[in-house]
Amino acid sequence: MLKLRFAADYRCLFYAFVLFPGVALAHYVQPALVGWLLPVSLYMGYCAGIFSHNHNHCPTFVNRRTNEWFSAWLSIFYGYPLFAWIPTHNLNHHKHVNRAGDATITWRYTKEHTFWTAATYFFVSAYFQSGPIREYIDKARAQGGRVHRQIVTQAVSVIVAHVALLGLGIALWGLGTGVLVYTFGFAIPALFALWSMMFTNYIQHVHCDPWSPDNHSRNFVSKWNNWFVFQAGYHTVHHENPGTHWSKYGELHAARAHLIAPELNEASIFAFCVKNYVLGPFFERFRTKQVGRAAYDAPAATLETDSVAAVEAGINAEIA
Ligand SMILES: [Zn+2]
Repeated sequence: MLKLRFAADYRCLFYAFVLFPGVALAHYVQPALVGWLLPVSLYMGYCAGIFSHNHNHCPTFVNRRTNEWFSAWLSIFYGYPLFAWIPTHNLNHHKHVNRAGDATITWRYTKEHTFWTAATYFFVSAYFQSGPIREYIDKARAQGGRVHRQIVTQAVSVIVAHVALLGLGIALWGLGTGVLVYTFGFAIPALFALWSMMFTNYIQHVHCDPWSPDNHSRNFVSKWNNWFVFQAGYHTVHHENPGTHWSKYGELHAARAHLIAPELNEASIFAFCVKNYVLGPFFERFRTKQVGRAAYDAPAATLETDSVAAVEAGINAEIA
């Protein structure tokens, strides 16, 4: 029942069942920790986002029911029902890879890459994902099967857990402090999980070349950074092998790295942010530049105009 498909996921379970709730509930035990634990809480939120992504691509457990319960559990820390990845990420982003038809394109309003476009990308991306998500829910509901039951279970888990956790904080510490312990324990990490996944998606694709099998993504290749983020920095090989378990991405990247444009193998997200957002405004050479063919520069024969139909076809295939 609890059998894992890959032993590397024991660390994910330790995070998901010990660290996530442990760090969050520490605020309830000792409200003086509010603020002090923020860096750790944000890291927990980031990992919740990574697990949500990975679990949708490559289920964690052997048993289907256990996977469904794990999705519901992760939804609480991710702050949103996990199924939402399926219509806009698995069926859409992985198919179009930042080209026309991708609900999460990085170049919707501007082709420039600035701190402002990266930081506010969350709002643009979330807005344009809402249509395909809505459609996915409607189709699942009309069919009334397993997919719909999972959507309901995940949504109920998020709402009930967050209301109960807010209530618990208030019951323990009164209104002001209670709201504060809930906000720092659960709300901020969950919001950060959502924001940071979309931010990461933005910087992994902005100015890349989706027409190339090697240069469609930016990688963050620092080994020790990747230990902390469960190999999420190796994005090229993730797109090329989306169903492969995350623990294999280090080796896959090592085998492919020589084919990838060197400027798309950045050391770490932190160094990348300093270069682009701190130094970039003053020195042009620190900013990203378009590599190869731009996502919006479609060769005439492959121009995808009917993006809505493409998303719909993917959703129909998934539900069927
Ligand atoms: Zn993915």
